[in-house]
Amino acid sequence: MSEPRDLVVVGAGPAGMAAAATALDGGLRVALVDSGAAPGGQFWRHPPLLAREAVPTADLHHGLSTYRALCATLSAHERTGRLTLLLNHHVWTTARDGDGFTVHAVDRGRAPEERAVVLRAPALLVATGAYDRQLPFPGWDLPGVLTAGGLQSLLKGGGVVAGRRVVLGGTGPFLLPVAAALAARGAKVVAVCEAAAPSAWLHHPAALLRNPAKWAEGARYAGTLARHRVPVRTRTAIVGAEGAGGRVAAVRTAALDADGRPLAGTERRIEADTVGVGWGFVPQLDLLLPLGCDLADAGDGTMAAAVDDGQRTTVPGLYTAGETCGVGGAALAVSEGRLAAVSVLTDLAAPGRPGTRRPAAERRAVARHRAFARAMAQAHPLPPAWPAWLTDDTPVCRCEEVTAGAVRSARADEAAADHRQVKQLTRAGMGWCQGRMCGPAVHCLVSARDQPYAPAERLIATPVTLGALADSVEPTSDPI
Ligand SMILES: Cc1cc2nc3c(=O)[nH]c(=O)nc-3n(C[C@H](O)[C@H](O)[C@H](O)COP(=O)(O)OP(=O)(O)OC[C@H]3O[C@@H](n4cnc5c(N)ncnc54)[C@H](O)[C@@H]3O)c2cc1C
Repeated sequence: MSEPRDLVVVGAGPAGMAAAATALDGGLRVALVDSGAAPGGQFWRHPPLLAREAVPTADLHHGLSTYRALCATLSAHERTGRLTLLLNHHVWTTARDGDGFTVHAVDRGRAPEERAVVLRAPALLVATGAYDRQLPFPGWDLPGVLTAGGLQSLLKGGGVVAGRRVVLGGTGPFLLPVAAALAARGAKVVAVCEAAAPSAWLHHPAALLRNPAKWAEGARYAGTLARHRVPVRTRTAIVGAEGAGGRVAAVRTAALDADGRPLAGTERRIEADTVGVGWGFVPQLDLLLPLGCDLADAGDGTMAAAVDDGQRTTVPGLYTAGETCGVGGAALAVSEGRLAAVSVLTDLAAPGRPGTRRPAAERRAVARHRAFARAMAQAHPLPPAWPAWLTDDTPVCRCEEVTAGAVRSARADEAAADHRQVKQLTRAGMGWCQGRMCGPAVHCLVSARDQPYAPAERLIATPVTLGALADSVEPTSDPI
């Protein structure tokens, strides 16, 4: 049997990489697991190693020096055998096991073959990030309508510019880097429709003043958009899409009133071959919920993992960092990852080198970034009246083809009060994506306005073959 690990980190994005590097520097033996082909997560998504020279993407990134330093630290520890880096490994479930955790993953490095991998450790750190929040609108299921994050992933992960004439819509600062990157790579971005008013930021001067780097970043994007003559329309939303020849051909946009209702007479039709939509992100809690950790209101209409000031969840030995604790960007994720690792080192009484521990500075950074994240959530809310854009035949759950009309009648006729009841009555959320796409929207359609969305608990985070399932019950080899 190989030597036991002290810590399993799931997710090799900014939070997980920083956590693993700090824990390794502190003397722990770590397994770092990610379903992707390379470390970096969403923010530092890169093409697979073999394709990097042919597909340069460095110009699309920020903070590459931090990424490279983290990669160098991880590689050094991999060479000494203290780090086990498991890429292309998707964790499908986790369980508490005596005084530690068992992590079940499938190795998809040789897909479609799947191999079960079981890891055990006294401490588990979940850094699984977030996914795009989507709100449906008539035509959102047409080919060519993507999430804003999806457009960015195609660009960063493969240098793919997904369209020639692109309209972006939704809310939040994330629309700006996507628009800037697409424009810089030759796409004609014909409109960015931001539902919020920029003046909403003026209510949060302290958060702005404490985060000058965010200003500078915003100014760089604004410069790129101005150079490429990309119009940014505020208090405006994409309220419909039209197809031709089997894919999207145009969008309908409208100016919004204070509640988010389209203003009469403001509707415009804009031709486009690609549409990217993003309404912020939803924390990816699949692995945390079944372990029983408490959630807290993230302030942006979603629930996130509840943590103390050292990133400890309410389950002893379970830590989490990055977007699982609420959406706030990569710099926050890195600081939270480091802080979580310092807590693991402390709780496991690891000897550690003192130089690796700067919890006070990291805590200050986390507080500063969290203040900015709170301001961002308040400045970019979901427009409360967005359901007014839907017709009764607009699909809400695309996997199971459940319409807005069916969800509304589940609420009106059968008194469904949350997305779980709607799922039982209509099958919304029962398909391939297990409610990740439609869950937040169904929640808004049936729940009270101020109630944040908490995803349903899923014991299995990704579809897994029966062969791999059988192997994990009785592992054919020793746990790694
Ligand atoms: C599609 C998308 C694109 C984005 N692009 C940008 C961008 O360009 N710029 C920007 O500022 N912000 C971007 N964001 C926001 C971004 O998520 C964060 O700011 C930052 O990456 C958060 O870091 P993190 O470590 O918390 O999570 P992530 O970077 O999301 O890392 C989480 C990691 O966990 C892995 N993972 C998740 N579940 C499992 C599992 N069950 N088993 C194994 N591995 C798992 C994922 O593969 C991923 O590598 C994007 C978000 C999304 C959803």
